[in-house]
Amino acid sequence: MMYVKEKQRIVVKVGTSTLTHATGHLNLRRIEALVKVISDMKNAGHQMVLVSSGAVSAGVAKVGLGHIPETPEEKQAMAAIGQSELMKLYDRFFSDYGHTVAQMLLTKDVVENPMRRAAAENTFRRLLDMNCIPIVNENDSVSTDELTKFGGNDMLSAHVACVCDADLVLNLSDVDGLYDSDPRKNPDARLIGRVERIEDVLSSAGGAGTSRGTGGMMAKLRAAQITTSQGIPMFILNGHDPEILYTLMDGGHVGTYFVADEAKAEDRKRRHAYDR
Ligand code: GLU
Repeated sequence: MMYVKEKQRIVVKVGTSTLTHATGHLNLRRIEALVKVISDMKNAGHQMVLVSSGAVSAGVAKVGLGHIPETPEEKQAMAAIGQSELMKLYDRFFSDYGHTVAQMLLTKDVVENPMRRAAAENTFRRLLDMNCIPIVNENDSVSTDELTKFGGNDMLSAHVACVCDADLVLNLSDVDGLYDSDPRKNPDARLIGRVERIEDVLSSAGGAGTSRGTGGMMAKLRAAQITTSQGIPMFILNGHDPEILYTLMDGGHVGTYFVADEAKAEDRKRRHAYDR
């Protein structure tokens, strides 16, 4: 099955544990590899949107704090420091491959307010028309409460996919995909290649992710629930080697594929015949 080939607009989500070393410092080799693959996908004709975590961790590492802070104020400050560090690198690496990046920082109240959401939709459309690669993160420095916080970048990436009307989400994680039981506890756990109905696999999701990231499998399943219900399929893949994305580009299958709601997917196709 050609999972990627016919998809025009693709959101790639990458988590903190993929982008940083255990020290919290940015993993330059991994980020460079990721940038190269995304650039190549762009060169192959896809419109690419990157949802990147790593701001808090990069900030903590830069100021030498040594641990992720407890208080929201400190976390917000770390995000402000790390976000510019992160964008500096993306800008440099993507420029090397001839691409222009654009920073989009979102909060939940933006996507939930029709006027502000429309403004964000227009900006994404314009950026993609101009051949840019939008790089999105939560605006951590100002999002502090239930009203403004997405609750992690898995959820953010699902909302971004809907806001920018994406055709596919590739969620790069630190696990190979969804297993039928927790692979950290059960050596016989088996990878599930394809999920038709998320309700059937909810019990397979374990708890939290790593100490540096926030995701965990449950957050990814909730994200998949949002995208697939809007007709947008999603993959969970291991981002340890970003070149895994070439396997998908070449028509192979890796990780776990979440099938989109068929009726919604048909609606999207019909609409795109007019508006793309
Ligand atoms: N927005 C956070 C950051 O950039 C990450 C949140 C998450 O990974 O879920 O550090």
